[in-house]
Amino acid sequence: MFDGKPVTVVGLGVSGLSAARLLKGQGVQVKLTDNGASPELAQRKRELEALGIECELGGHTEAFLDGTGILVVSPGVGDDSLPLKWARERGVPVMGEVELGYRFSKGTIIAISGTNGKSTVTSILGEIFKRSGKKTFVCGNIGLPLTSIAPDTDQDSVIVLEISSFQLARIDTFRPAVAIMLNITEDHLDRYSDFAGYENAKLRIFANQTDSDHAILNYDQTRFKTIKSSLKAKAFYFSKHRLPKEFEGAYIENEELVVRKGGKYIWIASKDSLSLTGEHNLENALAASLPPFVLGVDPEIIKAVLYNFKTLNHRFEMVDTVGGVKFIDDSKATNIDSARKAIQSSPKWIILIAGGKDKGGDYRVIAKLIKDKVKSIFLIGEAKERIAKAFSGLIPISFSETLEAAVNSAYGSARNGDTVLLSPMCSSFDMFKDYKERGDVFRRAVSDIKSKPKQKKNA
Ligand code: ADP
Repeated sequence: MFDGKPVTVVGLGVSGLSAARLLKGQGVQVKLTDNGASPELAQRKRELEALGIECELGGHTEAFLDGTGILVVSPGVGDDSLPLKWARERGVPVMGEVELGYRFSKGTIIAISGTNGKSTVTSILGEIFKRSGKKTFVCGNIGLPLTSIAPDTDQDSVIVLEISSFQLARIDTFRPAVAIMLNITEDHLDRYSDFAGYENAKLRIFANQTDSDHAILNYDQTRFKTIKSSLKAKAFYFSKHRLPKEFEGAYIENEELVVRKGGKYIWIASKDSLSLTGEHNLENALAASLPPFVLGVDPEIIKAVLYNFKTLNHRFEMVDTVGGVKFIDDSKATNIDSARKAIQSSPKWIILIAGGKDKGGDYRVIAKLIKDKVKSIFLIGEAKERIAKAFSGLIPISFSETLEAAVNSAYGSARNGDTVLLSPMCSSFDMFKDYKERGDVFRRAVSDIKSKPKQKKNA
């Protein structure tokens, strides 16, 4: 594959580290460059050097690319990064980490993408295939890089792969047997020049599929109905309403989750017994029922997992009820549509805590929902002025210096029966290491309040 030429990996995050190890393990001459220089990176550099992999840290130099046959790039590295610019100038081909992992993988790949719900659906599918007795790997954007598991796969493996738009932008031959696109709504407009660029990157998931593969799409997203004719794979849809006759797939009818295929109806589960709550999780359950169905898993196993699956941390997760006030941790809601779903799924009245690192989306698209269900908003982080401007005049808006202060103020203003919802609509990197740390800070603030409870007045 590499014609004996050295490969240079860009980025020493988990994906880059894993890509470099895989290549070395395959006998390829590999080196790695990263512009960071943290103690963690220095430690990784030592690990790689012990394997005989040359590493450049603290900045990229053009000479480091001399002799490079292929540049392998981590998903976190932008197209404007210097090694990519030099590679383009020199005509050196660029390969993403997922594409590299794909070339070394065997078995059936189920790829899951979408703006929101990827990790949830990936985890549900992982459970279903494990229960079905398959040798199952859960990997990709959810944590473990594909390159780290690829050498352990065989023809009977099922690889459940969460894949982001950044990863899809750099695929070439990647062809999943089943590809799911859950939804596409505004996100990452700080990295793409416009929404079309983001959408096109996502839709590449279907690009190399053939008529022996399956494509799974959300029927309730208007745009997806129209792309059916451009798909080469067999198209299956999912919908919260009855699907028209000409579409096969999963949907809800009379409160039951059913699948229609080849004119036959198969009952999968009762809507009321699904373990995950909220409209968005209904979409996730519908989507997750299809890959195991088309791959011949016993519907009883699908049902059992959909009835017992526990929500992932920081995704619309109930934390506690203190003094009659419910606290929900939805720290993973890093864009507007995920917060929309959380607000739709929470009981009235909501006191919303939002803000963080702005990604350039238009917050006004949820103005009506905010007016209908949210009593007041406490804003934190860099995005607070933009969000306040979008909702100005609708409901009371306050700024808080810290998340802890926002939680205390939200609780101070709450009445018995209200819900304090952390659903930030922004990424966390302006104030926290990641969304997990943000969610943990929220949870700690709630438990501090609980340690000094105060009975709330009725609404
Ligand atoms: P992803 O991996 O795509 O970020 P997650 O499953 O981690 O998705 O969920 C991220 C956020 O999106 C959470 O706030 C969650 O409640 C919300 N969410 C989950 N599924 C959906 C969906 N189908 N549509 C909209 N929002 C969703």
